Amino acid sequence: MKLITNGIKGTEDVLPGESYKWQFVEDIMRKQSQAYGFKEIRTPVFEHTELFNRSVGDTTDVVQKEMYTFETKGGESVTLRPEGTAGAARAVLEHGVYNEGYPIKAYYLTSCYRYEKPQKGRQREFHQFGMEVYGAPSYFADAEVICAANSIFDRLGVTNLSLEINSIGCNNCRPNYHKALKEYFTEHKDKLCETCLSRLDRNPMRILDCKNPDCAEVAKNAPVVLDFICDECKTHFDGVKSCLDAAKLHYKINPKIVRGLDYYTRTVFEFVSNDIGAQGTVCGGGRYDGLIEELGGQHTPSLGFGMGIERLLLLLESQKIEIPKPPVCDLYVIGIGEAAKIKAFNIIEGVRSSSLIAEGDIVGRGIKAQMKYADKIKARFSMVIGDTELEENKAKLRNMETHTEKEVPLDEGFFNAFFSEYVDSNNSKLLDQLNAMQ
Ligand code: ATP
Ligand code: MG
Repeated sequence: MKLITNGIKGTEDVLPGESYKWQFVEDIMRKQSQAYGFKEIRTPVFEHTELFNRSVGDTTDVVQKEMYTFETKGGESVTLRPEGTAGAARAVLEHGVYNEGYPIKAYYLTSCYRYEKPQKGRQREFHQFGMEVYGAPSYFADAEVICAANSIFDRLGVTNLSLEINSIGCNNCRPNYHKALKEYFTEHKDKLCETCLSRLDRNPMRILDCKNPDCAEVAKNAPVVLDFICDECKTHFDGVKSCLDAAKLHYKINPKIVRGLDYYTRTVFEFVSNDIGAQGTVCGGGRYDGLIEELGGQHTPSLGFGMGIERLLLLLESQKIEIPKPPVCDLYVIGIGEAAKIKAFNIIEGVRSSSLIAEGDIVGRGIKAQMKYADKIKARFSMVIGDTELEENKAKLRNMETHTEKEVPLDEGFFNAFFSEYVDSNNSKLLDQLNAMQ
């Protein structure tokens, strides 16, 4: 059979046999968000192009090369979100969420779109978990957000990640740094790529983030931002470091981190791994005190991070971290004959209504094949209902693990009988586990 078409290059499907991994990771992200007092925000997949030009910045790789921008039938220019921060900030402003008081703490789990060269850990559609805080100038906010990101790695059991932090100053001190960078890069103009040449005047800091190896080589000896930041920025950065020390979170100061998006000020950070190849940055974020103003709002010191979920899953895989498989089936019921099948159907529905997992045949398998199937899906209990069982109104409930059977009624009494067996078998498992631990 020939498919009419394949999935688009740079996109990936999450198939039913794999989705539990995503759900497990997302569940931890949601739980940790809750623990840190963040509530979910959901924004549209596309926005006016202007939003990203303004916030991400039109000298960045994302805006210059990577956006999926198109004109609608109405002649508007819209863009698929390349990241989650801009849309969240737009929504907070548009709906006056700040009227509820600061800080506003929001998280998102979202797809992002960037026209990049697909490779391991780099796709055209990828997914981010992100946290955003608005209205929080204190360095405790920076530390809180970094600790929140770290708590997700901790809960997943990820090791060997390095946390790298830097401060890239503010509007007061950055012009001096820009000047020094511009002088330095002008001296090495002949080695810079076309894009970086165009950045030289408008945003020389972007050159530090260029992935072209020649530009990266020149950038190695460029002036270091920490030598240029003002006293306020220094005090803020010291505060962040003290909090991370207090939380016993190890970090490295990496003066080369500038982050790929324009809106950052002061603290920037990345969690980097050596275990997943060239695309090693699993999480990146920092402070963006000017963003809300840039979008037309009041001065609102803000910060956040984006974590790449595909890269995180690659990391879990490379570190052989087992994600627990969800249970597949608590009870499989086989009905023989029309009347028994209806009875089985009723019982299955009843078990499902109390949130346990029950299955019956919908494929048309024979009895033997159904038994094999119940084995294959590792059903915990099974039961066969035929004419005799219907007549006597009772059947044998089989514990598939211990191979023991117990007679249960097929009237309303079934549910109680089944649940008590189910709970017993769980308890004895727990007991076994406890005994094994002693
Ligand atoms: P990189 O330097 O790897 O291109 P970035 O600085 O462009 O990353 P951010 O904009 O900070 O990335 O996005 C936050 C996180 O989202 C990254 O740390 C990464 O984990 C993930 N990410 C970014 N781009 C992609 C992509 N194309 N495919 C998969 N994950 C991505
Ligand atoms: Mg990038």
